[in-house]
Amino acid sequence: MGKRIIITGGGWAGCAAAAAATHLGAQTTLLERTDMLLGTGLVGGIMQNNGRFTAQEECTALGGGTLFQVIEKNLRHKAIHFPGHHHASLYDVSSTPSAVRRFLEENSVKIEYRARISSVEMRGNTIGSVSDDHGRTWEGDIFLDTTGTAGPMNNCTRYGTGCAMCVLRCPAFGGRVSLTALTGIKEIQGRRADGSIGAMSGSCKLSKESLAPQIIEQLDREGCVVIPLPPELMEDHLRIKACQQYALGAFRQNLVLLDTGKAKLMAPYFNLQKLHCLHGFENARYEDPYAGGKGNSIRFLAMAPRDNALQVQGIENLFCAGEKAGLLVGHTEAIVTGTLAGYNAVCRAEGHKLLVLPRSLAVGEAIAFVREQMRTPAGLAQKYTFSGSVLLEHLKQMNLYITDIPMIRRRVQSAGLSGIFSALPKKGTEK
Ligand SMILES: Cc1cc2nc3c(=O)[nH]c(=O)nc-3n(C[C@H](O)[C@H](O)[C@H](O)COP(=O)(O)OP(=O)(O)OC[C@H]3O[C@@H](n4cnc5c(N)ncnc54)[C@H](O)[C@@H]3O)c2cc1C
Repeated sequence: MGKRIIITGGGWAGCAAAAAATHLGAQTTLLERTDMLLGTGLVGGIMQNNGRFTAQEECTALGGGTLFQVIEKNLRHKAIHFPGHHHASLYDVSSTPSAVRRFLEENSVKIEYRARISSVEMRGNTIGSVSDDHGRTWEGDIFLDTTGTAGPMNNCTRYGTGCAMCVLRCPAFGGRVSLTALTGIKEIQGRRADGSIGAMSGSCKLSKESLAPQIIEQLDREGCVVIPLPPELMEDHLRIKACQQYALGAFRQNLVLLDTGKAKLMAPYFNLQKLHCLHGFENARYEDPYAGGKGNSIRFLAMAPRDNALQVQGIENLFCAGEKAGLLVGHTEAIVTGTLAGYNAVCRAEGHKLLVLPRSLAVGEAIAFVREQMRTPAGLAQKYTFSGSVLLEHLKQMNLYITDIPMIRRRVQSAGLSGIFSALPKKGTEK
């Protein structure tokens, strides 16, 4: 029988950790607060834009590409361009969650829905078991915290414009609870440039059917529609956005829509009455958040102190990934860290040395760089993504942003890590 790996939080990070752990033969349980997988990934969809391309290919060369293959089968558009972003792909936000669920179930991951972890039993500085709101308890050898950093409602009210009724559905399922915080570890909060806490999510979903036929047709054909805004309709939310890679003038001067099956509007919120003034948007309505005319969810409120193997510092058998592992924005960022955390969880359970990815790889550099940056007040006011802003600029300077796939594979091979995630090291072969 494999060791028991318990993953709390079924967003992209938790799903990737589950895929990695079950592949290595661990008895893997994924606990999700709501009734759907993917968390904030239920409303996202953008992959492979800018440096996310490199990170995805690196992770694949490392042997951790299975979830990317699932996504690839659910893409609506591939290799598209939109302002500031190249070779992006867009997954279908309706079909992808179920495809991921089926993939995990077929690979023996036990998924428990409506399992909101709200208490923990500690044995010294080791977690013995976790329990949910209904009193169900899961014992394990190693635990992962992939609960994300969004909400709950009191935070969206305190640091944002109130609950905008997003897909996280806190009123129905209870808000996010951090496993790390339950163990007594003090968490880290992200800041905005003005010193206030958290950051607002940067896009909303419009119901596609509510838009004019010519907009729907262009979205279906090209994946992207850019509509110049008259000055009186421009809104200035660039500074509050979690996704700084989209904090470009083009996203203020234009309405940028992307086709994820829904019309993804690249603004944290946009006044509905103003939207109705635009030709083709007379009947527009929000699908997520429901109050997208007023606000959006607030994130980056609770991150775990961790090392570069993604172990939570201070707890022997706890790992973290995704937004919980730092100010990392994105599905790709969640998947690559989730894969590493899932791999290391099994390594720890089986008595192997933990893997720290080298800084000669974009993913290794990102994990180490973000941790260093978060130690400074200025670094805590940034967000980090392979797709733009500070991290991409840093990777460019280090010559780590490349899109030549054979070269990415050679770099992984030079590091001696080709396929590392696909099997545990043989005893006695670890460096
Ligand atoms: C509106 C929006 C649009 C976005 N668009 C994109 C995009 O197009 N491309 C992109 O790359 N990134 C996008 N992002 C960012 C991206 O979605 C996230 O950075 C990334 O997916 C985070 O994944 P995660 O697994 O760390 O956390 P989350 O997605 O927050 O998942 C955490 C999960 O844990 C669960 N959970 C919380 N507490 C508990 C508990 N106590 N017990 C059990 N379960 C719990 C939650 O229900 C949730 O399912 C977007 C984010 C938002 C909000």
